[in-house]
Formats: sequence, C-alpha cells, structure tokens
Amino acid sequence: MPADTPSPGGARYARHEALNLIGQAGQRKLARSSVLVLGCGSIGSAQAMLLARAGVGRLILADRDYVQLYNLPTQLLYDDNDVKARAPKAAAAASRLRAINPEITIEPAVIDVAAANIEELVGRADLVIDGADNFETRFLLNDAAVKAGKPWVYGGVLGVDGMVMAVRPGQGPCLRCLFDLPPADARLPTCDAFGVLNAAAVWVASLQVTEAVKILTGAPQDGHKLHILDIWGGTVAPVLAERRPGCQCCGRRNFEFLKPA
Ligand SMILES: [Zn+2]
Repeated sequence: MPADTPSPGGARYARHEALNLIGQAGQRKLARSSVLVLGCGSIGSAQAMLLARAGVGRLILADRDYVQLYNLPTQLLYDDNDVKARAPKAAAAASRLRAINPEITIEPAVIDVAAANIEELVGRADLVIDGADNFETRFLLNDAAVKAGKPWVYGGVLGVDGMVMAVRPGQGPCLRCLFDLPPADARLPTCDAFGVLNAAAVWVASLQVTEAVKILTGAPQDGHKLHILDIWGGTVAPVLAERRPGCQCCGRRNFEFLKPA
C-alpha cells in the first residue's frame, strides 16, 4: 500500500480508494455525503449496508414497519432476535449499521412517510435512495426530490425482475416522465403475493448504490438509462430514457402528490 495521506477511517476504505473510479478524493466526498434510505425492506437493507460499509458519512433510515419472520430471507440487516424483540426496522438497522461502521452517523426514523413529512426528510440528505415497496411513496418522493433539485435513485424488485433509474432533476427524466401515474393497486402484483428472490433484491440494490456512488463522487454522467434486470435470466438491459416536456412533475412543476388530498 502506498503511504499516502490517511483518509477518514484510515485504512478502512483502502480497497475503494484503490479503485481509480473512486480514489481518495471520491472517498472523501462519500464521507461528506448524506443519503436518505427511504424504506428498509429487502432492497433498502442491502442499500443501507453497502452505503454504510462504503463510508457515506450520514445515513437517514426511514421505515415504519417492524421486523417479521418472513423478512429474514430477503432483508439482510435483521436476525431472529429482531423478530423476537418486535424491533422497528429503522432502529434494528441503525444498531446493526453502527456495529458495521461506527465512524459514520446513522439517524433512524420510525416514520410513516407521507406528503406531510417527505419534504423535510428529503431536505436532510444530498441524495435519496428508493427502498420503498409501493408506487405511491415513489411518486411522492419523485415530487419532493424534483421540487428540491435533489437526485434520487429509483429501484423496484418483484420476483426475479427489477428496474433501476437514477433521477437527476434538471438533467434527465424523472419517474413521471416514464410512468405518468402510479398503477392502480388492483392491477399491481406485489412481493406479498408474487414473492421475491433475495438475490434479485440485492442485485437491484447494488445497481442503485452504484448509481448513488457515481452521483455523490461526481463521476461523469453516462446518459440517462432505465435498467431492466432479470436475475434468473442473468440479464441487465439498459433502455435510454428521455424527459417528457409535458411531464406534470419535472416539466410543469405541478407537484400534485405533495398536495393534501
Ligand atoms: Zn418528469
């Protein structure tokens, strides 16, 4: 190892610093960054763990749920004791992440994310990573992030399939450029009914975290892509995504999901 100036955490981040895509400069940017992990379920657990290990300086973890037995195969931050203790996911996640990396700040929020609190939550972070399990929350997040000019990384998983897209307000498409409205509940399969492969969730989270690290370290932008993943088939298909001029959110700035119903 070269005897360079130590970065935050000493040798902890040596393998990431050795990566020329990150380096010591990128590592210092991560240490100064804050990320809101919105939802600490299957993809949120993996995101939070990767971001904490990567040395993102401050993580805000928002989730309203308690750890259940059926969460353990897919949600990597929790264990049997959390189920027995009926631990809130945000609190159990914070405790685990502090043990993994005591050098960063973890702020758990046991909270039901809604129009009344999303803007305050988004305002606390430089970037938001989507670990939500429903489209209503994602449309709410999209409005709040685009309004505040904050980047966020969309990610969803169902079965063995997933989708990922980084949203950079003012530069590329937002979620509503792709999908004008959330799909009706009745038409939408959920992981409750359809199931989810743990490795698929981790794969989606890995790609989201990569996009987040690229944004936080100021990596050159390489186009606006919606990634469509099928882990069973072993494929990731990037589709070029474009802004829609008539988009209610990033085009007309009509943030209707933030308005009281
Ligand atoms: Zn848009």
